[in-house]
Amino acid sequence: MFKFYNTLSRTVEEFHPNEEGKVSMYTCGPTVYHFAHIGNIRTYIMQDVLLKSLEYAGYDVKRVMNITDVGHLASDADTGEDKMVAGAKREHKTVMEIAKFYTDAFFKDFDAVGNKRPDVVEPATNCIPEFIHMVETLLEKGYAYLAGGNVYFDTSKLEDYYVFSSSVEKEALEVGVRDDVEEDTNKKNKTDFVLWFTKSKFEDQALKWDSPWGVGYPGWHIECSCISMKHLGEYIDIHCGGVDNIFPHHTNEIAQSEAYLGHKWCNYWFHSNHLNDQSGKMSKSKGAILTVSVLQEKGYDPLVYRFFCLQSHYRKPLVFSYENLDNAVVAYNKIVKRVSELKAEGTVDESVKTEFENKFREAVSNDLNTSMAVTILYDALKADTNDATKLAIIESFDRVLSLDLIGHAKALSEAGTSVDSEFEAFINDAIARRAEAKKAKDFATADAIRDELLAKGVEIKDTREGVVWKLV
Ligand code: AMP
Ligand code: ZN
Repeated sequence: MFKFYNTLSRTVEEFHPNEEGKVSMYTCGPTVYHFAHIGNIRTYIMQDVLLKSLEYAGYDVKRVMNITDVGHLASDADTGEDKMVAGAKREHKTVMEIAKFYTDAFFKDFDAVGNKRPDVVEPATNCIPEFIHMVETLLEKGYAYLAGGNVYFDTSKLEDYYVFSSSVEKEALEVGVRDDVEEDTNKKNKTDFVLWFTKSKFEDQALKWDSPWGVGYPGWHIECSCISMKHLGEYIDIHCGGVDNIFPHHTNEIAQSEAYLGHKWCNYWFHSNHLNDQSGKMSKSKGAILTVSVLQEKGYDPLVYRFFCLQSHYRKPLVFSYENLDNAVVAYNKIVKRVSELKAEGTVDESVKTEFENKFREAVSNDLNTSMAVTILYDALKADTNDATKLAIIESFDRVLSLDLIGHAKALSEAGTSVDSEFEAFINDAIARRAEAKKAKDFATADAIRDELLAKGVEIKDTREGVVWKLV
């Protein structure tokens, strides 16, 4: 039985999709005004684990994701500048250039950490007619109103707007909304939100479209409702995002979707917790952005970052530090080393393999217990069975873990075997000294060690497989 925490019921629930054996899954995609930091990527890794765990449990999953390339303002309360416009100004480019550049950068990192691409990826700017249609329907049904040229959703028309929150949390949210400094005087209720802007404080919005209410552009939340309905229909099983999406984004998505449809929309809401650094939550608007690509440039394998994320539970905040990441490097390399020592000899013992697969399935089906899944991987490596069986088990687990353990192990065993053992020991020692220097952020020494090796005819390279070397 597959179980995970449903933010809507605030409990770990057994999962029952609308259609037996099939899952429709929607993911809020990135706002492409800047690089996705490693915190954002943690969220996408955990969603990928959810998808692959469901597949491991036998479900056929269809996953859809949007790309936010218009309408997400600096403040979630519909105030401030459009983040995309701010990004374009910052870099003296057009909004579409910014969107293309950061969408490509996002997928480079998304892929590098072993994620499977969603079946459908749709930018918000592709779906303007769908947004207009939904806004028109909400107006016809009396859930929306025009004020000051903009169209707003009227939250007072709903019996329960704060669907995710307990009564105590509701009070806190109400205070927060009431105290929001920038007030939009067009709103009838503080919690109302913009469905379509024609007039706002900023005149220089780059992308605008004709609409029945004048030339304008959509509010942020409408895209996820429309893009999900366009590709997954009126009922979806799972909607995913980070915990910061719960309010107001997902709360507003539910308000408008259910008002539009006239019935319940999505049964399960999956939220993963944040990655923090020592100074708090990582955020795109806060100084230098640490990306997976930056980690890679520093010599870290992106799959080690994935391994680092898998070692802790998705519902707990995770603190990033280089020290923690270095511990993950050591643990990951040890696993790869052990896998590289396995010989593909003998026949697979199917009963042992099934026994391990069942344990593994149980772990990932139990609210994505990924650290337990990793423990089961260690157990499999230690198990009293032949190497062929162990390799088959690792291959099977990697359908969910996506750590490319066998590929890395092969690369490790193929890397440089054509030198005598004394020279090999020297090379390995130099690689270790260089890793130490990098850890201490002494990049000058690290570079000097690389040059020293090169002078001796050995070229080293930081690759997805870790540090590899070849004779030149
Ligand atoms: P954004 O591009 O800002 O819309 O965010 C993309 C995804 O990353 C959303 O699902 C956010 O909830 C999530 N997210 C934002 N900040 C963090 C963080 N520090 N750690 C983990 N996920 C985050
Ligand atoms: Zn969304």
